[in-house]
Amino acid sequence: MSVPYDGKIKPIEEIFACNCFNDTAMQQYLSHEIFSELQQIQHGNCDLTPRVAEAVALAMKSWALERGVTHYTHWFQPLTGSTAEKHDSFLTIGKTGKVIMDFSGRELLQGEPDASSFPNGGLRATFEARGYTAWDTTSPAFIKDTEGVRTLYIPTAFFSYNGQALDKKVPLLRSLDALERQTLRVLRALGYTSVNHITVNVGFEQEYFLVDRSFFDKRLDLRLTGRTVFGNLAAKGQELDDHYFGSISDRVTVFMNELNYELWKVGIPSKTQHKEVAPGQFEVAAIFDAANVSTDRNQLLMRILKSVARRHHMKALLHEKPFAGVNGSGKHNNWSISTDDGQNLLSPGESPEENILFLLTLSSLVRAVDTYAPLIRASAATAGNEHRLGQNEAPPAIISMYLGEQLTEILEYLVAKKPYKTRDGEILRVGVNALPGLPKDMTDRNRTSPFAFTGNKFEFRMVGSSQSLAGPNTMLNAAVAEVFSDVADRLEQAQDTHSEMLSIIHEQFQNHQRIVFNGNGYSEQWITEAKRRGLPNIPSTVEALKQLVEPKHVAMLERHGVFTQEELESRLEVYLQIYSKQVNIEAGVMVEMTRRSIVPSVTRYLSELVGDITSQKNLGLQTAELEKIATLLSVELNETIKSGEALHIAIAQALALSDDTIGQAEFYSSEVLERMRDLRSHADMLETYTDKQAWPFPGYEDLLFRL
Ligand code: ADP
Ligand code: MG
Repeated sequence: MSVPYDGKIKPIEEIFACNCFNDTAMQQYLSHEIFSELQQIQHGNCDLTPRVAEAVALAMKSWALERGVTHYTHWFQPLTGSTAEKHDSFLTIGKTGKVIMDFSGRELLQGEPDASSFPNGGLRATFEARGYTAWDTTSPAFIKDTEGVRTLYIPTAFFSYNGQALDKKVPLLRSLDALERQTLRVLRALGYTSVNHITVNVGFEQEYFLVDRSFFDKRLDLRLTGRTVFGNLAAKGQELDDHYFGSISDRVTVFMNELNYELWKVGIPSKTQHKEVAPGQFEVAAIFDAANVSTDRNQLLMRILKSVARRHHMKALLHEKPFAGVNGSGKHNNWSISTDDGQNLLSPGESPEENILFLLTLSSLVRAVDTYAPLIRASAATAGNEHRLGQNEAPPAIISMYLGEQLTEILEYLVAKKPYKTRDGEILRVGVNALPGLPKDMTDRNRTSPFAFTGNKFEFRMVGSSQSLAGPNTMLNAAVAEVFSDVADRLEQAQDTHSEMLSIIHEQFQNHQRIVFNGNGYSEQWITEAKRRGLPNIPSTVEALKQLVEPKHVAMLERHGVFTQEELESRLEVYLQIYSKQVNIEAGVMVEMTRRSIVPSVTRYLSELVGDITSQKNLGLQTAELEKIATLLSVELNETIKSGEALHIAIAQALALSDDTIGQAEFYSSEVLERMRDLRSHADMLETYTDKQAWPFPGYEDLLFRL
C-alpha cells in the first residue's frame, strides 16, 4: 500500500524522526539525570550500568507502545553484509496470569540469537557456539513501519563469547576509538587542550537502478543474482549522457516522494536525489552524521529503498553492475573528521594556523591512503564490485587521490619549493604566513577519482552500491589512526612543535605524492602511469581480499585494536566463501537459462526460420541473406550449448575444491568467470539475431528504458 507524502498535511519538521528514539525523544522519556549519564556513556566516559539500562528500556518500551509497536528486535550486521534480526514481542505472562507488556534492561542490553548459521570463518567453531548481540548506545533505536506493522529496531553489535567480532559494527566502533585516541594525541601535542572528542563524519550517496517489476520477474538472473548474466546493450545506451541529472519521470517522482517520506520518519535525513549516468539509474544522498550512525542508516535505507520500490511495482537493484556496458552503481563515502569544539580538520579554514593543521591532516591522509592502499582496496572487494571496478565506465582498481589544482600546487610548493602564487598574485612562504584563507570550493569536480578531496571532506567512491559502509570506514579510520600515532609520537617529543609540524607536512607530501593524480582516472594512460609510479592495481577481488592477512596490515590493525589476526583470517575465509558462492550461483543460473530457456527458444525459432526459408525458396524468392542468418544462428546455438556444458563442468570442478577456500575462490575467479564470459558472448549473439517475440526473457531495452 503506497502512502504518498503530502507536505500540506504534515510538515517535514513534524514527521522527521517521528519513528526514531533519538536524543529529542530520549530527553522527553528519560529523567534529566539518566539522559546525561547516557550521554557520558555514549562518549565512552563511563560504563553502562544496569540502572541506566533499566531506565532506558522502560522509556523505550513506553515510547514504542504508544506508537503501536508489538515486537522488538536486536538488529545486527553479520559478515554477509546485510542485516539480521529476530523479533520478540513485549508480551509476558505476569504473576497473576495476566498478559503484560514487558521489556527489561537485560533484554535491551544483550540478546543471544541462535546465530550458529551466520558465517564466522571458524571463529565460533573453535571457541563457543554462541553469538551475542549487545546494544549500541551510540546509534538510535527506531520503529520500522511496514504498511502498519510496527517493530522496534535496536542497533546492536554482534560478537562471540570471547569478544571476537562476528559483525561489521564492532571493528568500526573500535576503529573510531582508535582514530579518536590518536587524533586527540596530535591535537594535545599542538596545544589544542579544549578538544575532548573527535567525530568521524560520513555522508553517503547511494546509487541504484529501478526496473519495472513485470520485466524483472521474467528474468531468472535478476531474481536470483541481482544482475543480468546475459543481455545485449540496447540500441540506445548512455552515449548521449542525457540521463544524468535529466528530468525525473512521473512514476519515479512519486516513488521518490514516498521513499523520502519513509526515510524521514525513521530519521534518515535524505536530501538530494537525481538521475544518474546510466538509463534507469538514480541516486539518493543523506546529510552526513557520525560514521556509525550513517552506516546504520545506510543499511536501513537499502531496505526501505527495496520495500518502497516493491509498493510501486518496481524493483530496486543494488548490485554493482546489473547491466554490462552501462555504468555500474557505487556508494560514495564522504569522510571528514571534526572536533567537539566545532573544527573540521579537513576544512582549509580562515587563518594560517588552521591552514597548517589542515595541511597536517591532509598530508597525513595522503600518507595513510598511499601506505594502506591495498587494504583500502580490499575493503571494497566483492564479487559484484569486481564487475564494476576497472571497467571502462568506472574508477579502476587503483587507489589514487584527487586534490585539485590549487592544493596540488601547494603540495608541489612544499615538496619542490616551486613558488606558490595565491589566486590574487601573492607569493607565499608556508610556515611564516602559511596560506591565506583557502576557499572551500577550490577543488574542481573530478568524477573519475576513487578518492577525491571535495572542499572539506574526502569522497571515497570505490565502495560498491550493495556494500555496508562499515568495512571501508574501518580500514580508512585505522590507516589514519596509524599515521596520526606516528605524527603524535614525533610532536610529543619535539622541542619546537611548530617546526616539527612543518617538517612532517613536508615529508609526508614528499614521500607520498605519487598517489596524487588529478587526471582522468578512467583512461588507459593512467593505468600505465600508475604502474610507473609503483601504485598497486588489484582488479581481482580474490587478490584484493588476500591483503587482509598481509603481515604489515595485520600488525597495523592489531596495534590499534581494530582486528586481531584471528578475526582477519576469519574474515578472509568468510569473504572468499561469499565470493565463491556468488559466482557459483551466477554460473548455475547461466547454465539453467541456457539449457531451459535460450536453447529451446532459439531452436524453435531456427526451425521456423528454416521452414520459412524453404517455402520462400520454393517460390523462387531471394533467400541467400536469410540463409546466412540461419547459419549464424545454427553455429552460435551450437557454441552456446557447448559453452553451457563447459561451464557446467567448471562449476563441478570448482565445487570439488571446497576444502581449499583460497584455491576454490581463485578457480571461480579465473576458470569459471572465463567460461561465463565465453557463454555470454555466444548467447548474446543469439539474442541479436533472434526474433524479439521468440526471445525467452525481456531484454535491456525493456529493463532500462521503461520508467
Ligand atoms: P558533492 O556534490 O560534492 O558530492 P554534497 O554537498 O552534495 O557534495 O555532499 C555529498 C555528501 O557529503 C552528503 O551526504 C553530505 O552530507 C556529505 N558531506 C558534506 N560535508 C561533509 C563533511 N564535512 N563530512 C562528511 N560528509 C560531508
Ligand atoms: Mg559526491
